[in-house]
Amino acid sequence: MELTLLGTGCPSVDYKRFGPSNLVSTKKTKILVDCGSGVTQRLHKLKVSSAEIDALIFTHLHSDHAVDLYQLIISSWHSYRVKPWKIYGPKGTKKFVKKIMDAWADERNLRIKYEARASAKTFDINVLEFKSLGNVKIKDINIKYFEVDHKPVKFAYGFCFTNKNKKLTISGDTKPCENLMKYAQKSDVLLHEVFIEGEIKETNKMRTKETLHNVQSYHTISSEVGKVAFITQSKKLILTHFVPTQFNKVRLKNIIKKDFGKEPIIGEDLMTIKI
Ligand SMILES: [Zn+2]
Ligand SMILES: [Zn+2]
Repeated sequence: MELTLLGTGCPSVDYKRFGPSNLVSTKKTKILVDCGSGVTQRLHKLKVSSAEIDALIFTHLHSDHAVDLYQLIISSWHSYRVKPWKIYGPKGTKKFVKKIMDAWADERNLRIKYEARASAKTFDINVLEFKSLGNVKIKDINIKYFEVDHKPVKFAYGFCFTNKNKKLTISGDTKPCENLMKYAQKSDVLLHEVFIEGEIKETNKMRTKETLHNVQSYHTISSEVGKVAFITQSKKLILTHFVPTQFNKVRLKNIIKKDFGKEPIIGEDLMTIKI
């Protein structure tokens, strides 16, 4: 199994760290986790066509994780996708996908008629919504999904991917929570989000102490993520979803090493990890 980080950023714009998105793949299977800003450009750079993706799964429906959905669907059509899309996500995903598709329906129908491509199957979208806990099998990859704590977001998930006795856990957006520590046990790789303390300064009335506190309080902060990884007994910790996107890497590694006992890997866009 392989994990490729397509976007390691957050809602802030940064040309080196695109919006959150990851690709989990084997020789047979390609699963996209989230589709943040720039996902199709990153797939293109990786030489993976969106026509080949087996499924898209959403951790949650915050815009930084979902904003390029339509771009993904439409570019898969331009890439000659001939199969329907399979999308898994939290409660509300069906409505969300329908609204996005509806917004572009007139433009799309005009295009389909005028361009007369051989297949419009890509626009048949099957959406399955998660329960609180469960399993999904996509070809040779098993996915266990479980709820994480990203309140006030009601439905947010983390995932364990398994293939050939190897386990990859993706935290999704969450503050430290029991479920993650339970299901991520003994992961070969734990991909975890992080909010880096002390790197964002209050600037003006738009970014007050309260704003910073609120953002920080539904994420896992740098002084917590190493402890979480240690409790899960994960072999490797890879960090992603950096808030802010620019920070002191040496300082962050040192803080986490103290808790985790090992150095974490600072994720970068297009980094691939074999699992
Ligand atoms: Zn979020
Ligand atoms: Zn996010």
